Amino acid sequence: TKWVYTFAKGKAEGRADMKELLGGKGANLAEMSSLGIPVPAGFTMTTEVCTHFYDNDRTYPQDLEEQVLTALAEIEVHMDAKFGDAKAPLLVSVRSGARASMPGMMDTVLNLGLNDETVEGLAQQSGDTRFAYDSYRRFIQMYSDVVLGVDHYIFEELLEYYKDEKDYSLDTDLTGEDWKSLCDQYKEKVLEEMDEDFPQDPKVQLWGAVGAVFKSWMNARANTYRILHNIPAEWGTAVNIQAMVFGNMGEDCATGVCFTRNPSTGDKHFYGEYLINAQGEDVVAGIRTPQPLTIYEKEESGSKLPSMEEVMPKTFAELVTYRNKLEAHYKDMQDMEFTIQKDTLWMLQTRVGKRTTKAALKMAVDMCEEGLITKEEAVMRLDPHSLDQLLHPTLDPDAPRDVISRALPASPGAATGRIVFSAEDAEKWVKRKEEVILVRTETSPEDIGGMHVAEGILTTRGGMTSHAAVVARGMGTPCVSGAGDMRVDYKARTLTSFDGKVLAEGDVITLDGSNGEVILGTVPTIQPELSGDFAKLMHWADDIRELGVRTNAETPSDAEMARKLGAEGIGLCRTEHMFFEHARINYVREMILADDERKRREALGHILPFQRQDFEELFQIMEGLPLTIRLLDPPLHEFLPHSEHDMEEVAKIANMSVEGVKERAAELAEQNPMLGHRGCRLGITYPEIYEMQTRAIFEAACKVTKAGGKPVMPEIMIPLVAMNAELERLKVVVQNTAKEVCEAEGLEIDYMVGTMIELPRACLRAGEIAQAAEFFSFGTNDLTQTTYGLSRDDAGRFLRVYQEKGVINVDPFVSIDQDGVGELVQMGAERGRQTRPDIKLGICGEHGGDPASVAFCHKIGLSYVSCSPYRVPIARLAAAQAAL
Ligand code: ADP
Ligand code: MG
Ligand code: MG
Repeated sequence: TKWVYTFAKGKAEGRADMKELLGGKGANLAEMSSLGIPVPAGFTMTTEVCTHFYDNDRTYPQDLEEQVLTALAEIEVHMDAKFGDAKAPLLVSVRSGARASMPGMMDTVLNLGLNDETVEGLAQQSGDTRFAYDSYRRFIQMYSDVVLGVDHYIFEELLEYYKDEKDYSLDTDLTGEDWKSLCDQYKEKVLEEMDEDFPQDPKVQLWGAVGAVFKSWMNARANTYRILHNIPAEWGTAVNIQAMVFGNMGEDCATGVCFTRNPSTGDKHFYGEYLINAQGEDVVAGIRTPQPLTIYEKEESGSKLPSMEEVMPKTFAELVTYRNKLEAHYKDMQDMEFTIQKDTLWMLQTRVGKRTTKAALKMAVDMCEEGLITKEEAVMRLDPHSLDQLLHPTLDPDAPRDVISRALPASPGAATGRIVFSAEDAEKWVKRKEEVILVRTETSPEDIGGMHVAEGILTTRGGMTSHAAVVARGMGTPCVSGAGDMRVDYKARTLTSFDGKVLAEGDVITLDGSNGEVILGTVPTIQPELSGDFAKLMHWADDIRELGVRTNAETPSDAEMARKLGAEGIGLCRTEHMFFEHARINYVREMILADDERKRREALGHILPFQRQDFEELFQIMEGLPLTIRLLDPPLHEFLPHSEHDMEEVAKIANMSVEGVKERAAELAEQNPMLGHRGCRLGITYPEIYEMQTRAIFEAACKVTKAGGKPVMPEIMIPLVAMNAELERLKVVVQNTAKEVCEAEGLEIDYMVGTMIELPRACLRAGEIAQAAEFFSFGTNDLTQTTYGLSRDDAGRFLRVYQEKGVINVDPFVSIDQDGVGELVQMGAERGRQTRPDIKLGICGEHGGDPASVAFCHKIGLSYVSCSPYRVPIARLAAAQAAL
């Protein structure tokens, strides 16, 4: 088996499309090398080695070592150096690289191959003792931390102590001799902690590091990340071994990270950070403040530090050519890592960059208009779920703000919450239903859980590419980073602002992730902008999709919002919600308490004008778009009063005794109301209720029509039908009432009568039900409940356990159970179409706004989905993606 793939100088055995085998980093290093971009020579050990490692008791395949030695020999030739050689030592980095990028999850070891002997060789060869020992101490620390498990802070303490002793303030104050004596201290410490010398044999170091990468695949934080991001453990990670290039050899050296476009705003500006005379993770570690890459960015951010464009113009220009080449090649925004050794530029990584939703939208639209990608590709670039972020309110720019710090706008959006100082506390507080802002000096991968639940994240150290910033952007969580003028005191649990304001745990702050402000207390918000790029992309999606998208709405404000968000009608108007309004609930109760039809009709007569008014407004808002109105559905006792006071009030209105009210309420109570006297069963027993509702609908329709509005399109929906006989009877009630109203008004109104399909029997007998029904709307909430025999109001308690134990992957109330409930829907749709080929088929309920469920609806050929107003854009995009 081929376990090892090499790359060097314009050649490579791997390719970008081999991510499964080579991991993301390895595949892209190979691709860059083939494109003629300078990449230090190296090789990738495949993910199959990782799988083998775990399948075989943590051992390697037999022929691996030989392949590694051959590949290493090739690097030696390219670099004109030898691994372990005392005079010209080859140093390598050992880098993990999974298929999907897992930022910060796995550890990289740099400068591997250094020991007491080779460090001297490096010093002589480079003529720079300081550089050699700086590299050695970095290596000892990283290797000890990652491979031997000696915590890095032990070394940092030694360094701090050393600096104090010598009265140094910066790392750059240390001389070669200083680093050398620190290296000795470091090694002693390792001996002390491990009872073993720091390994001097480069081969032992190499296999130690390789083993550590494979083992880190299963460490706790990698496991957490995988669970959060649905990455299967079986994938495994690859290992990349690559010749070192040095950014820490002097002032003509540097290291940095950059993005082909701004990952936060999406602007088409080259964007990044770099540090002179630094190595590896220094930029993201937040130890020194990184410098801006470009002059533009320097001016934008008001940074006083010189940009790379000014300091190293030639190398910068070269970097720009790679930026252009890589973006054109991958046709997407790239996140790149580079190092400059003595004015020579080396590219160390490229990958499709993580971005905010706002940036993803802008880039998709821009790239399409630049001709880089097609409309279809642009539509595929956004995760429908993420649209949610664009639709949510932002801080009102005109509202007063008590700004206590201005720092980096690391991840956009507004967040308000109570201050907590640890990820653990964040999780605890959120369990108690508090909204929190996680405040840290900096974050690390162990904090993932807390970062996930926090409303926002604030750090006092680190740049735009720090751990906090990258992870927050990925999660869509607002983040402000590098608030250097604030101080965190973990012990006292306080946050102190530059002017001495002391905030305690639990105090409320607001973060503006779009401009980096930290604000005391809360700030009013404003509605988002739905025009511009958003409208463009949505328009492209609309051209592609085949499914219609409607909304579930009963209030005028919801209906208006839904239309702004692109709803093509109302798929579900739940009339019972209209009954609860203050002015009418008492009439509704009177109607329920009535013991004969006459009294019931009297009460209904009072409700009629209210109900007519409701429909009038909705018809006006929908301007001729279809409006599916579901007649009364819930069990009547849901409307009855519970408190003594309310009972008395109802008794008065209904002209009854309080006792009488209580008795009637007890009579109506059911053991199992969700399977009880509700839906069409109410219509059958009290047809006068449906009669009143139908009258209200048609009187409203006539009124709006007479006022010169567009023709209204009522679709009257009978809920909870199990048998065609139920529907047929109720259809007659609707038809007679409609006819009566229309004749009286002298108008003709087009309408349909259909049913909600939400019982398994209805799916089975759909062929028959379609004789009366002109449309079906699959009520998948109730259908899930009745198919599983699972109460949707109580299931939360144990469904979570089911998920944790892996019995189910997703909650069937969130994403439709395609195998079971889905099969019933499909069967219902097919049988319905057999009877009535042009039957209109839709779904309403939570699933209508879930991208996976929308894709399912597309697949089985429904006409539309209907969802809550804010999910309308999600459904539009998901429907377009399903059609591609
Ligand atoms: P991560 O996956 O956490 O980004 P990397 O493997 O990319 O880890 O390594 C982190 C950093 O270490 C790189 O960005 C780069 O600056 C540095 N690095 C890795 N390999 C080399 C190398 N061969 N020469 C110089 N620097 C390197
Ligand atoms: Mg990297
Ligand atoms: Mg229902």
